[in-house]
Amino acid sequence: MVSTIHSATDFTVDPYRVTVPQHAPLNTVHLEECTSYWPMKILGQTLLNPMDITQQLTASQLHRLTEQMNYALEIAARQSKAGHTPIVALLLSPSTLEVVAEGLDTTHEYPWGHATMNCIQQRSQTMGDHEYVCSDLWLLLTREPCAMCAMAAVHSRVGTVIYSMPSPEVGALGSRYQLHLQPSLNHHYRVFRHLALPRATTIWSEYTNTLHKRST
Ligand SMILES: [Zn+2]
Repeated sequence: MVSTIHSATDFTVDPYRVTVPQHAPLNTVHLEECTSYWPMKILGQTLLNPMDITQQLTASQLHRLTEQMNYALEIAARQSKAGHTPIVALLLSPSTLEVVAEGLDTTHEYPWGHATMNCIQQRSQTMGDHEYVCSDLWLLLTREPCAMCAMAAVHSRVGTVIYSMPSPEVGALGSRYQLHLQPSLNHHYRVFRHLALPRATTIWSEYTNTLHKRST
């Protein structure tokens, strides 16, 4: 026998509304929280984006990274005073976290002169004809990278990315996109964020305020 359903009242169950997560979880902390609303699991990919930086790094690594981020932010502040976009990229040795390459934003000279691109370019000049010029290096950024820069980090085989301030409109590592979680990519890196966030936010706000005053 075939019955026809004419309305929701024909069901023998009572439909009800539930709140479900809008976005896929970025890390194990997210996954646990999301699962409390709706059963979720990750298919075909690893959760690679620990939100809490202190859970995955040693105290000495965190201390050294903080020093390097403060160094990058000092440069960013000088860039801002000079009227340039205050975004700075550093490539660090994974063993010592010493700087092996630096890149500043030069979009005032040419549109693709993002800090990450310039930093990888500087590294490539010391590596010569090497296919993966950033193998296992740590990429430290004062601001979340765009999709172009995040893919450049994939192509050059960066091992870890640490950024300070999210970029809500174009950020490709957590804000707008989660490029590092794409299972189709043949290389993945870890991502940490929010290191030295208050200082980075202040520098960015001062820069955008100055831009606003100039345009009015
Ligand atoms: Zn970029």
